[in-house]
Amino acid sequence: MSNLAPEPEFQQAYNELVHSLEGSKLFLTSPDLKAALPVVSVPERVIQFRVTWEDDQGNFQVNRGYRVQFNSALGPYKGGLRFHPSVNLSILKFLGFEQIFKNALTGLNMGGGKGGSDFDPKGKSDNEIRRFCYAFMRELSKHIGQFTDVPAGDIGVGGREVGYLFGAYKSYRNQFEGVLTGKGITWGGSLIRPEATGYGLVYYVAHMISYSSGGKETFAGKRVAISGSGNVAQYAALKVLELGGRVISLSDSKGALVAIGEEGFNETDIELIAQLKLDRKYLTELHAAEDSFHTFLARDPVSEQEARALIGKGCKFLAEGSNMGSTQEAINVYEDDRRCRKADGLWYGPAKAANCGGVAVSGLEMAQNSQRVSWTSEQVDRELAGIMERCFWNCLNTAKEYYDIADGELPSLVAGANIAGYVKVVNAM
Ligand code: GLU
Repeated sequence: MSNLAPEPEFQQAYNELVHSLEGSKLFLTSPDLKAALPVVSVPERVIQFRVTWEDDQGNFQVNRGYRVQFNSALGPYKGGLRFHPSVNLSILKFLGFEQIFKNALTGLNMGGGKGGSDFDPKGKSDNEIRRFCYAFMRELSKHIGQFTDVPAGDIGVGGREVGYLFGAYKSYRNQFEGVLTGKGITWGGSLIRPEATGYGLVYYVAHMISYSSGGKETFAGKRVAISGSGNVAQYAALKVLELGGRVISLSDSKGALVAIGEEGFNETDIELIAQLKLDRKYLTELHAAEDSFHTFLARDPVSEQEARALIGKGCKFLAEGSNMGSTQEAINVYEDDRRCRKADGLWYGPAKAANCGGVAVSGLEMAQNSQRVSWTSEQVDRELAGIMERCFWNCLNTAKEYYDIADGELPSLVAGANIAGYVKVVNAM
């Protein structure tokens, strides 16, 4: 019996990794890589602190702040900050652990970390958000830096929050440096960073479509249901349209919006939705749609039953733009379907590979900051597309190398991603 507090979310991420590694030939051929497992599973450092801030009524409020500096074998710790009431150490360890291997899959030199707070930004005024960010950074600024640990946004932390956090760091440390990514364009941010996760996700799926059809198919004409309607979902939707696909639904925590015509949403619809979200409103204000299939996509993560419903509806490709998008039971359903029905089954692109475009462009932002230059949109987008392509082939070829693939079976991208990320990090250690 362990005397440590239970960490169910972290345990899920760890079990998934171990499942991929132990089911493969990796440990048979490289016992040293197995010996590293208990080492990798413990963060190098965990910082936990008190954040005291003043609300608009002049009352003191207190929250918990965290930074999990998980692994620095490949570079400075890198990963987002999440402000959400559900945040606790187990969730941040889950996300930080995933981030290690995700960052490795970008091919760039970044270690893995994650942080945040149980602060709930919902309903807070702009001034309250600013005071919270300054209070949070008062402590965090002692532990981060461009060569040490470079946080960014995640749920509840967008451009506005990164701005406050950067201003706070600059005043506490008297240093202007690329200590955060996702910055505004005039003070060191990178073009295409806001678009990067959504674009990267669609680039990754485009490779899945192409590979599984022997190069015959593309996004053209495909029906695409998108869970979410925030930053990642909006840019994914726009990229799908650009590649000729049809976006048939989007969702948020209150429900799903389903397009009426077969053509799906157009660019103007997506822009309208983006404005609605900027105004912090819900999709249900546009249309009170209730649909048994699409509404479940509003909930996160996908459960076992929902995974079966997706397969029942003929879903062929499923890729995660969010972290923790599916329960372990749902992933087992996807993977069984791929193995049993072979090319007719569902093919799953796991978060750590499919959404690595966001952190990849964060890495490109760090590179631009170090060189004191700004690249064009075309340049960043080209780099991003190349990173997603190499990431896809790395996952695919690694799965082929370490697993026996039956005739007609598509390789497991989740296994390939886990093994490729793990081997790179552990060899560096
Ligand atoms: N939060 C994003 C992720 O989960 C981005 C992290 C970053 O840019 O550092 O990958």
